[in-house]
Amino acid sequence: MKKLDVISLGKIPSRSKCTRCKKRALIHLPSHHANFCEDCFLYYFQNAVRRAFKLFPLRKNIPLLVAVSGGKDSLAAWSILDELGYETMGIHINLGIDEFSAASKAAVEKFALSRNLSFEIVELKNILGITLPEIRKKTKRMICSVCGTIKRHLLNRLAFERGFNVVVTGHNLDDEASRLLGNIVRHKDQYLEKMYPYLPPIGDKIPAKIKPLFRVEAEEIRIYCQLKGIEYFSGACPFAKGATSHIFLEALQLLEAKMPGTKRDFLFNYIKSSSVPEPEKNYKNCRICDFPSYVDVCSLCSLKERLVSTQNSTPGERSNGKEMVSKS
Ligand code: SF4
Ligand SMILES: [Zn+2]
Ligand SMILES: [Zn+2]
Repeated sequence: MKKLDVISLGKIPSRSKCTRCKKRALIHLPSHHANFCEDCFLYYFQNAVRRAFKLFPLRKNIPLLVAVSGGKDSLAAWSILDELGYETMGIHINLGIDEFSAASKAAVEKFALSRNLSFEIVELKNILGITLPEIRKKTKRMICSVCGTIKRHLLNRLAFERGFNVVVTGHNLDDEASRLLGNIVRHKDQYLEKMYPYLPPIGDKIPAKIKPLFRVEAEEIRIYCQLKGIEYFSGACPFAKGATSHIFLEALQLLEAKMPGTKRDFLFNYIKSSSVPEPEKNYKNCRICDFPSYVDVCSLCSLKERLVSTQNSTPGERSNGKEMVSKS
């Protein structure tokens, strides 16, 4: 375990004692009104993940496919699940975004090799014949929306083909609380049910999704990575512009600074008042790939069709101003 640089973790009085073992504390968690030494912090972190699993109706020892981006959240999720004894495999989709994707992939490989964990790198170019920057040039849709659709569909397919029934993502408390606030403010009722940290499988092809880090804050994940020596990639995607989720997070951080624990209360009380979502029944199968879909042709197949038609069209036809990718 790496020793912490106390200063990097914010202000903590030098004589503070660990809330749990009474040794010298190095980590201050205002939202818990607690101070921890390094060992007790790791105990707290593990416990937060164990508590998260209590909400997931999964059989014991089920193998988990971990979607890893190379950032702190997904690598921390993979690390803690491995520590807790879960059988895991990491999967990384290389989107082909120049240095950003190269650095993300390198962080995944380095982490997996250092822990001897099984993993797979999937190249978008090999699957769709095109990288994300190339898709961006051909569509008028928001690229993050297209990227999200691609990653979601590919993860479902890759999990099914490799025999996994559960996919893990690294969403943390800050992500989930700010998304909840955004959905409430905008009355996006259709998304509120999907806020539950476990989503059941759809049919026998779309795996269940779990978010084991939903109880821990981004800052706590940074501390965990620092203690465990996890070298994650912290660069920002060059296409990440115009997202509003950080504004909702800033609003929550303001409340948190005045009233520590508000973020946790907001999210946890919402989850407590909801229940495991019912398995989706109103779906058909995509007439091209046979995966569950709400429409005749799923978003991924629709995207592929449009890419092909764009390639086959003349430059004049291509610039007719119509959207290339249908909304799903
Ligand atoms: S910022 Fe947008 S384009 Fe970049 S990886 Fe995230 S979702 Fe994809
Ligand atoms: Zn302690
Ligand atoms: Zn399809």
